[in-house]
Amino acid sequence: MMKTKTWNQHVVKKENKSLVLRTIRNNSPISRAAIANMTGLNKGTVSSLVSDLLEEQLIYESGPGESSGGRRPVMLLFNQLAGYSIGIDLGVNYLLGVLTDLEGNICLEKQIKFKNMSYEEIVIELFQIIDYLKNNAPASPYGVIGIGIGVPGTVNKSGEILLAPNLGWKNVDLKSLIEEKYSLPVVIENEANAGSYGEKKFGAGKDFNQIIYVSVGIGIGVGLILNGELYRGNNGFSGELGHMTIEINGTKCRCGNEGCWELYASEQALVKSAENMGLPIPAEKEHTLESLIDLANEGNTEAIELFNQIGDYLGVGINNITNIFNPEQVIIGNRMAYAKEWLMEPLMERIRRQTLWFQQQDLEINFSELTTHSTALGIAAFSVENFLLII
Ligand SMILES: [Zn+2]
Repeated sequence: MMKTKTWNQHVVKKENKSLVLRTIRNNSPISRAAIANMTGLNKGTVSSLVSDLLEEQLIYESGPGESSGGRRPVMLLFNQLAGYSIGIDLGVNYLLGVLTDLEGNICLEKQIKFKNMSYEEIVIELFQIIDYLKNNAPASPYGVIGIGIGVPGTVNKSGEILLAPNLGWKNVDLKSLIEEKYSLPVVIENEANAGSYGEKKFGAGKDFNQIIYVSVGIGIGVGLILNGELYRGNNGFSGELGHMTIEINGTKCRCGNEGCWELYASEQALVKSAENMGLPIPAEKEHTLESLIDLANEGNTEAIELFNQIGDYLGVGINNITNIFNPEQVIIGNRMAYAKEWLMEPLMERIRRQTLWFQQQDLEINFSELTTHSTALGIAAFSVENFLLII
């Protein structure tokens, strides 16, 4: 019985400490007395937990704050420089790595582009980016606290990549490989799931709780924030909406299905249509999106027509998703968000015409503010949350 009691006390202390840390993080700068007020813990408990957190360098004290008349209290702040997190967006033709502090501020960034590389070759590039970020991280009490990687594919709850059709990967255990090499906690997550979390935490979704994040890059992935939290589904496979059928007898997709949404509304679809229409494609094919935006800005009617088509198809899929989830906000993110100006009108036209009228009430359709950084920031934030949980 004694043992049980001790264990319970240990758990309660840990939970209280987490609560105090969270309160400081969300309200810094804050005094000990204000923490006691907000949490309902008594002043002695708060004081002792704050001492622990100060010793662990997760918080620090600053000069006196606003006084309500009496002695000015010492204020406490979250030490966002106590450690750093590595977030990597592993795309179909690029790798983007960021090093962030514990509040998601980017300190270092590195990107490389590639074409048709094998899994083994991509892993070598990935190691190089991680090495660069890790070796150049500023000195801190905890150093790099974790590595997160967002991938364009289906990831199960234990971090195994089951299928990444646009990379040609099947059943890949990248997580164990990275964990063994770096001896750090590793999180692997679908890029759209990570991106939706990035938008909720740092981007356009900050003030919303029912968010559909549509990541439109080479393919399309969807991340669902439901009731304020990332919804992963039973096994982690939610949001494979790039592969919902929107054309019966449509084009064959690499996933095995036909008429998938991403074949009509993604960057891949844009480039393909541009080629078919005989529009000029830059020597560096991956810059086609940018060059088409330039053409549209110059008034090229074919380029504008092409964006109309893509925007319309985006609207078709978003209509379906909206009818299923009744969201507060839809965020269109990833590279296609750069074409906001040309996509918004045709997309909205489709929604206005087709989406059930009551679904359109209290519905915001926005483009991402973080664009290409949502995934890297979101996945870096996962590691931070995990790290702060085990403190
Ligand atoms: Zn498909």
